[in-house]
Amino acid sequence: MDKIIKIGGAGISGLTAAINLAKAGYKVEVFDMTKDSGIRFNNDFQGIENWSYEQDALDFLKDINIELNFYYWGSNKLSLWAPDGCHRDFKLPRSAYYLVRRGTVEDSLDQGLKKQALAFGVKIFYNHPIKSKDVDIMATGPVLNDPNKDALVSGYAFKTDLEDCHIGLLDDSCALNGYSYFFVHDGQATLATCIFGNYRELDKYIEKTLEIFKQYKNFKMEDVKKFVGTGNFFLPKIPKSRKVYIGEAGGFQDYLFGFGMRYAMKSGYYAARSIIEGRDFYELCQKDLIPRMKASVVNRLFFMAFGKRAYKWFIKHCSDRDPVKFTRQSYRYQSFKKILFPVAAIILRKNIRDPRNS
Ligand SMILES: Cc1cc2nc3c(=O)[nH]c(=O)nc-3n(C[C@H](O)[C@H](O)[C@H](O)COP(=O)(O)OP(=O)(O)OC[C@H]3O[C@@H](n4cnc5c(N)ncnc54)[C@H](O)[C@@H]3O)c2cc1C
Repeated sequence: MDKIIKIGGAGISGLTAAINLAKAGYKVEVFDMTKDSGIRFNNDFQGIENWSYEQDALDFLKDINIELNFYYWGSNKLSLWAPDGCHRDFKLPRSAYYLVRRGTVEDSLDQGLKKQALAFGVKIFYNHPIKSKDVDIMATGPVLNDPNKDALVSGYAFKTDLEDCHIGLLDDSCALNGYSYFFVHDGQATLATCIFGNYRELDKYIEKTLEIFKQYKNFKMEDVKKFVGTGNFFLPKIPKSRKVYIGEAGGFQDYLFGFGMRYAMKSGYYAARSIIEGRDFYELCQKDLIPRMKASVVNRLFFMAFGKRAYKWFIKHCSDRDPVKFTRQSYRYQSFKKILFPVAAIILRKNIRDPRNS
């Protein structure tokens, strides 16, 4: 316990690891290259998804020793849109996700975790870039400005006069092989598109997304902040050194839609447990996170293979069901997924790589 555990990256995975280690009595130091946690985001809404596990996301956070000291909001309403006016409004038995703010505002998830870590005595050193050889745990997020990026997200965070809404839009003209979303809560809005290819045309996709949502209802946009962010999706390879890489730096992401927060925080929790209990980090992940990530690779293949038809089918198929429950089932790594996984991995192989080695 006298050894200081060093972590690179004061984002959500690094801080989750730090909180759990410090709570167990370890001395922890975290190093971040920027001047504060959450700086790569614009206080936009992101959703902690509630569809890849049976356990509700709020119970999950409590289980991994995270206090709910940040803004979060769930809703049992969800609208899904596909091309040609295929719209469905759902009333769900439980929220599809919990919205949190990402950035440096007081009530953001990033700042909430930072406060918890500091309260447990974690030392955080900002403006301090780090290399993997200098730390026990690497939690440095995606490779920014990566020419081999796997997804690009762009959108606007703004104030609006529109009432609360949660809309997911599946339309390749707005988001190639991806999706667009529009969240409004309490006059704060995030409207964005997430594309998986044709990155040069990003602006075209976001403008088309804005046009479609404006057709739905004209709304005011004030105090507008535009944001762009990248995503890295790769299946974790165990480094020869067995160095612990967590969050997006370790490939812990949802391969289907890039909802990586739950995976990032869980990998941070497992990193802490591996040290506290003297267990192998990658074995802990192998039992839980990796099978779901492999299932999500197969899901992505289906999604890309069937495109527009799949979107409409998905929305229609869900019309008399709970789309969250339906999606949750697709994250089970069942026998047919195990058979399809190697095929999906070959077809998507340019995406299943490890930027640590490229
Ligand atoms: C615009 C956008 C929208 C998204 N929406 C969602 C969503 O709705 N739901 C969802 O689940 N996921 C979403 N994601 C993905 C989610 O944000 C990530 O999966 C998650 O933040 C990854 O956490 P992390 O701890 O790995 O990285 P981060 O939280 O990014 O933390 C990494 C930290 O490491 C620091 N760092 C980097 N390099 C170094 C270095 N060399 N030395 C020291 N420090 C370093 C960075 O400054 C940063 O603070 C979105 C991503 C983007 C870009």
